[in-house]
Amino acid sequence: MNSTNAGTTLAASLKREIDGLEVVTDDASIEAKSRDYWMRSLLQSRVEGAPRAAVLVRPTSAAQVAAVLAYADRTRTPVIPFGLGSGVCGAVLAAGNEIVLDVSRMDKILEINDENLTVRVEPGMRGSDFEEALGKRGYTMGHWPQSIGISSVGGWCATRASGQYSTLYGNIEQMMLGCEVALASGKLLKLCPMTRSATGPDLKHLFMGSEGTLGVFTELTFRIHPAAQKQAGRAFSMPTLRAGLEALRLILRAGWTPAVTRLYDATEAGRNFAVNADGKPVLLVMSEGTAARVDSEAAAIAAIIASQGGVDRGEGPVTSWLEHRNHVPSFEKLLSQGLVADTIEVAIGWDRIGDLFETVNERGAAIEGVFAMSGHVSHCYTQGANIYFTFVAAESDPRAAMAIYDRAWKTTIETTIELGGTIAHHHGIGRVRKEWLRDELGEAVALLADLKRTFDPNGIMNPGALIDA
Ligand SMILES: Cc1cc2nc3c(=O)[nH]c(=O)nc-3n(C[C@H](O)[C@H](O)[C@H](O)COP(=O)(O)OP(=O)(O)OC[C@H]3O[C@@H](n4cnc5c(N)ncnc54)[C@H](O)[C@@H]3O)c2cc1C
Repeated sequence: MNSTNAGTTLAASLKREIDGLEVVTDDASIEAKSRDYWMRSLLQSRVEGAPRAAVLVRPTSAAQVAAVLAYADRTRTPVIPFGLGSGVCGAVLAAGNEIVLDVSRMDKILEINDENLTVRVEPGMRGSDFEEALGKRGYTMGHWPQSIGISSVGGWCATRASGQYSTLYGNIEQMMLGCEVALASGKLLKLCPMTRSATGPDLKHLFMGSEGTLGVFTELTFRIHPAAQKQAGRAFSMPTLRAGLEALRLILRAGWTPAVTRLYDATEAGRNFAVNADGKPVLLVMSEGTAARVDSEAAAIAAIIASQGGVDRGEGPVTSWLEHRNHVPSFEKLLSQGLVADTIEVAIGWDRIGDLFETVNERGAAIEGVFAMSGHVSHCYTQGANIYFTFVAAESDPRAAMAIYDRAWKTTIETTIELGGTIAHHHGIGRVRKEWLRDELGEAVALLADLKRTFDPNGIMNPGALIDA
């Protein structure tokens, strides 16, 4: 049983009030869902111990989710919506008195509409189960985050996620057509799926990226696509990082949208690909769709890459990337080896991307304790692209490791702001980026706080994440 009296009383009260609700009270289950994958909270737990929520509930319907929220609002009990806990920014972090609202039992596809090419799904469905089920019917949504096996479709929407094939299929906000959301008041809001509509501002976007602070997704409708007939990928070594960036810019400018575009700097290319014997950056591109489209796109892309000095290194590195692309590293294992590492993803226009890439790599490498600062580009647009930085430092003392961690984040984010980029391309804000939200949003931060107060006047929805109101 949960050791806290408050937890036991809360659990009994929830069971009494909400018919059939699964209420979990054992310490291990609650502990497993009291934080996400944020590296800093793991370090902090080694210094101060890991806080645990009061109770865990596992609803099976939208009505139960709404009833939990209504109860929490009435009793002023904080609630942490929980998908599968793969967030990396500390959006899930218990302080001790919360209800963790785990939606992972709401995990079914409700309907596939073959004519409209849409799917209706419950929020807790695991991404890999979802794509597998679509695949069996001859479809894909085209959303392939590295974390597809450990994240939920509702979590994708709550964090504005991005998948590895985003250059072709778009990001989650292009995929979600409609949703049902439970509000703090216990009301259920339906934002109907429409091909497109001009009924004022698009309200579903208020909830996308709101990280459980404005409402809980209880159902989602996404657009889907017939599964690709053909895939074709190649790797190229590039003479310089800037030549690789220029090749990507020209590919997008010409109107090509290969599913996968990944440019690794020399450090990451060396870490990941045997072809990099000459210490050069490596560019992977992969097209998918109808055979005619794939063939013409692949040929045009290869010509653009060659014009920037790219040397064709064959299909091997793409095949190897496809095999290993969903690997989930163990942060615990890294820490036990005396290493601290994290990834920081940002985005910027093509005119400043080379400067940002080089400046962060230089400034990051200069931080005492950091022995590798590197990056890759993995989501490209006509206007610019993301950069996914990774730093690795050797430090076994958790307090000292936290200081290095904070310096690496500050350096990366403040350099991004200095050069005019966005501080978050797809992982969200959580707790790790909160202090810089105003730098990007300016006065609009007050508007976000106003929205929070409107949707959640008693401040019960995931307090501490994204925005304080
Ligand atoms: C190894 C690894 C690789 C990753 N790769 C990618 C990647 O390629 N692309 C990418 O975008 N992200 C990636 N991530 C980050 C993470 O997987 C995403 O942020 C994902 O969308 C989180 O989904 P989840 O179900 O695990 O959400 P959780 O971690 O459970 O929750 C995330 C946030 O969403 C809220 N939330 C969850 N479910 C709901 C709901 N139904 N309604 C309202 N709020 C909800 C939570 O309160 C929290 O604020 C990666 C993470 C790891 C560890």
